[in-house]
Amino acid sequence: MLPRSVSLGVFRVSLARGRARRCLNRRMANSDDSVLFGNRFLTMPAPSQTFPEQGMTATDAMRLVDVDLAMEGDPQRNLATFVTTWMEPEAQRLIVENLHRNFIDHAEYPISAEIEQRCVRMLADLFHAPGRTTGCRTQGSSEAIMLGALSLKWKWRQRRQASGLSADRPNLVFGGDVHVVWEKFCRYFDVEPRIVPLAEGKYTIGPQDVEPRIDENTIGVVAVLGTTFTGHKDDVVGIDALLRDVRTKRDLDIPIHVDGASGGFVWPFLYPDSTWDFRLEQVRSINVSGHKYGLVYPGIGWLVFREESDLVEDLVFYENYLGKTDATFTLNFSTGASMVLAQYYNFVRLGRQGYTYIMKMMQDNARALADNLRDSGRFEVIGSDLEQLPLVAFRLVGENAYDESDIAWQLSAERGWMVPAYTLPPNAERVKILRALVKETLSREQVDRLSQDIADACRTLDHKGATHGIERNQVKRGTGY
Ligand SMILES: *Cc1c(COP(=O)(O)O)cnc(C)c1O
Repeated sequence: MLPRSVSLGVFRVSLARGRARRCLNRRMANSDDSVLFGNRFLTMPAPSQTFPEQGMTATDAMRLVDVDLAMEGDPQRNLATFVTTWMEPEAQRLIVENLHRNFIDHAEYPISAEIEQRCVRMLADLFHAPGRTTGCRTQGSSEAIMLGALSLKWKWRQRRQASGLSADRPNLVFGGDVHVVWEKFCRYFDVEPRIVPLAEGKYTIGPQDVEPRIDENTIGVVAVLGTTFTGHKDDVVGIDALLRDVRTKRDLDIPIHVDGASGGFVWPFLYPDSTWDFRLEQVRSINVSGHKYGLVYPGIGWLVFREESDLVEDLVFYENYLGKTDATFTLNFSTGASMVLAQYYNFVRLGRQGYTYIMKMMQDNARALADNLRDSGRFEVIGSDLEQLPLVAFRLVGENAYDESDIAWQLSAERGWMVPAYTLPPNAERVKILRALVKETLSREQVDRLSQDIADACRTLDHKGATHGIERNQVKRGTGY
């Protein structure tokens, strides 16, 4: 047996060699060595304008995309985004193994749906909901906000119509410190935005700002927990007290929606005694981004109502085309279940204990970075003595030949750090700041390296002046690139 199989093996090998040689000869003749040694795309542009006529091998396609993406920013040095850039290998495995699972398909995947509801209940508990509540997963806080604000609009209309009053001029009150999604909501769904302007040194809003802007057509007031700009919170306690007062004295029941996109997973762990959630009576709904401090990869947000009755029944649709009658309250339909599962993984893996540990670790490192920047004598740190997200918002002090945008640009050019510089919203647009998110992946070693790199970038700019400013001016004159 043995010799025969060996000789057969040899025969097969020589056959295969012959075939390979013939193939190779053909390839040489076609000068198509790329099949053997490389990939067509290495010497040709990537398909981009028309639908490709022919395909390529799986390996080629993978390498084409990989090589393109290698030119993108390094997530480790991306201190601009609030969104999670790292999860544990076990969570990654769970995500990869469930990529095929369509979350909306509740009839076929009832456990995924149940896991979503477990997460909603856990969040309701974390946010101190008084009793039975409802909520859902969303693609992110933006979808959660659209849905939550739609519910505010419908509830307001019901209140107006019940009293036989007109319901055609809804308005929504919020500060200039909100994320752009709130202005989007107002435009998409035809609601008048009543925006409280900011001012130099005033980057959040309180009851005194809200009071003159509310009336019988106000569908709600938005309070931000952890603003995108400086990481602080609006005075939710004060706004709640004002609206409770308005409810008794003027018979106007104006709800608060808390935009906890970032802060919803920070405050319960860093500032558990600070009230901003359902402990305050007028807070009727809260959104939070699972993919920010919920520590899950992009694609997950949450909307939680105080009570079931805060979700308007009109907005819930019942369909049965997936085999079972199902209630849906979403802007999207099909979507992956992986991120819901990953969120649940984090909840059970970390618990309050783990989230608290991670939030404190980020806060410690943010404080270390703030100290380094302050000690350099070049920067002022904004509001680090207040309750704040684990980030550092800072700006130059004194007279300088360059500004914060120059530093952002120089830092990125020299070391690849992505630290955004931007002006604050009206009427604080004279204030330009840099903002560094201090996440789980930024170790103390890297905090010190970053501090050093910022100092180096400033030293370069001391010598060469404001390059970025010059480019900006050119753009303004219409001669820019
Ligand atoms: C990020 C953010 C949003 C938008 O959230 P997504 O999850 O990115 O859709 C809304 N509000 C605030 C305060 C945010 O920080």
